[in-house]
Amino acid sequence: MYADIGKSGVRSRETSSASICIHLRFLSSLISSRPFVLVRCSFWSRVSSRVRSEGGSIRGLFLAAILLFSFAVNRAFAYDWTIIKENGRDYIPLTDLARFYDFNSAEFSNGVATLNCPAVHLQCASGSRDLYLNGLKFILSLPVLDIQDRLCISRLDLAKLVDPVLRPTKIAASPVRTVVIDPGHGGSDSGARGPLGNEKEFTLDVAVRARDLFTKAGFNVRMTRSSDVYVPLESRALFASFQPDAVFLSIHFNYGMGPTAEGVETYCLAPRGVPSTNDSGLTFADFQNCTGNVRDPENIALATAIHASLITRLVVPDRGVKRARFVVLRNNAIPGVLIEGGFLTNPRDALRVASPAYRELLADAIVRGVMSYNRAIARGSLRSLRPPASISAKPPPVGLSETFSGSLIWDPLTSNDYSRDVEP
Ligand SMILES: [Zn+2]
Repeated sequence: MYADIGKSGVRSRETSSASICIHLRFLSSLISSRPFVLVRCSFWSRVSSRVRSEGGSIRGLFLAAILLFSFAVNRAFAYDWTIIKENGRDYIPLTDLARFYDFNSAEFSNGVATLNCPAVHLQCASGSRDLYLNGLKFILSLPVLDIQDRLCISRLDLAKLVDPVLRPTKIAASPVRTVVIDPGHGGSDSGARGPLGNEKEFTLDVAVRARDLFTKAGFNVRMTRSSDVYVPLESRALFASFQPDAVFLSIHFNYGMGPTAEGVETYCLAPRGVPSTNDSGLTFADFQNCTGNVRDPENIALATAIHASLITRLVVPDRGVKRARFVVLRNNAIPGVLIEGGFLTNPRDALRVASPAYRELLADAIVRGVMSYNRAIARGSLRSLRPPASISAKPPPVGLSETFSGSLIWDPLTSNDYSRDVEP
């Protein structure tokens, strides 16, 4: 049932009537052992090739020493995770999460968990799927549970959301050189109809603006449509799947859920075995492996980078990073997101979307989100060991492990100026 999460190395330690606690010896068995081994191999090959390329010089040895240091302080090699079985699912106490990721305070009060460290502020609440990282909203696949007086997060959310977001440098991903921009709808398919225009016109306008900005920034750009034509969803995903070093950006505007529904949400593909955010229960289809699931870590990392950029730059209500199995995400072989840039059925959003200035800002935020993603996944260079100068991150405390080298270069994890409280 959970074949996408490695089970090797799991051993039973204690059993009670309410739960079975299992401890894991290695993080690699929590997330998937094979990619982790590959990371180790590629790390060593990087070090040796870097020394070779520097001709064995002092500079090369110095660089190798720094990379070796980050390797040595990485605590991921030995860690006992407590796994609690509940309703047929695996859960991890948040106290374990706090220890592993070096949070230096963890408070639990009235069903709300608040974890803090210099770089990250995490909040979530019992019974809720809302998770806030430095105030940015994520919708978990499964709710946080109070099990035997311990707040727990699902193992799946830990592996498929928390870890890739907190440690993007662990993701085996290529830097993005090409973007496939997908303006939603077109031709006979108008999409959502608003009082000030139709979705298909607004999506194309934002896509053209983003195309120009991406081109100016040095990216290759491919468009699934650049005029008012109908393109089947399957064709869009197929077209994108053949682009190397590329990401897929589908642009849409929202409708429905009553006139009060307002704000921006960013979707990426649901991991195998969990329902989509907007579905109430599991279906058979939720257990099928989709083409896009091979990109799970990149999908959530890209969604995080883009959503953070949208929320900080557009100053609109944050509806969260969500999960879905839309055809364009499901059938896509490259990392992808689907952006809902506002509700055409909400008076405030409809006014915003109709404004060219807002659409330019939206396009700019998307471009900056992809740049943020590129910075976050950058590995194997000194750049991954320190935040870029353009982001005013506090310097990491002395002795900080590589655990946080990635999180320091995420936009959402470096500023906390849009934080809010989690509703209990
Ligand atoms: Zn749409």
